[in-house]
Amino acid sequence: MKGVTVVTHPLVQHNLTRLRDRRTGPQEFRRVLSEVAALMLYEATRSFAVLPRSVRTPLAPAAGYQLRREVVLVPVLRAGLGMLDSILQLIPNARVGFIGLKREETTLRAMFYHKSLPADLSPFEVILIDPMLATGGSAVAALDLLFEQKAKQVRLVTLVAAPEGIRRVRSRYPSIPIFTAAVDQKLNGRGYILPGLGDAGDRLFGV
Ligand code: URA
Repeated sequence: MKGVTVVTHPLVQHNLTRLRDRRTGPQEFRRVLSEVAALMLYEATRSFAVLPRSVRTPLAPAAGYQLRREVVLVPVLRAGLGMLDSILQLIPNARVGFIGLKREETTLRAMFYHKSLPADLSPFEVILIDPMLATGGSAVAALDLLFEQKAKQVRLVTLVAAPEGIRRVRSRYPSIPIFTAAVDQKLNGRGYILPGLGDAGDRLFGV
């Protein structure tokens, strides 16, 4: 699928399988999700813009690079929190915004219950983090908000995506890069991804 990068690295796939396993409890789930998030980030940031920057080593001048833009990480609550810490360890100076979205159980529509973001996102590389791209309703609502706040460079990092969710994001945002560890079969009648890994928030936090 165009603009969708499936990260097939063996460590990502090994860890995804542990996350899928129903026997993996919250403590291990948290640790493994955190590990896999760091690996996903490498792929998601591969095309970050850089500027030339020269420094002096103790021996001689050296040509190098620096990131062109500051980074804003935007985890979608709750499950996005499970990927935040390890990503922050890799980009410690990133700012962090939060989006709280819940699915209305009957209509499956996404409703905001929390938003905290820089007012102007235009100077930043924005990484939207949500482990599950299911119906795509939350992702589209979150992306709408990011673009209302003038975001220019946005990437969506997820772990498991349903084809339905990808199509929905694609139909509204044809050029947003999406990074995922798997594109699964389909959604069930309650909007859960099959085979998926269950409710990522519940698996993370045990409730
Ligand atoms: N959210 C989840 O946590 N899991 C799904 O399968 C779908 C949405």
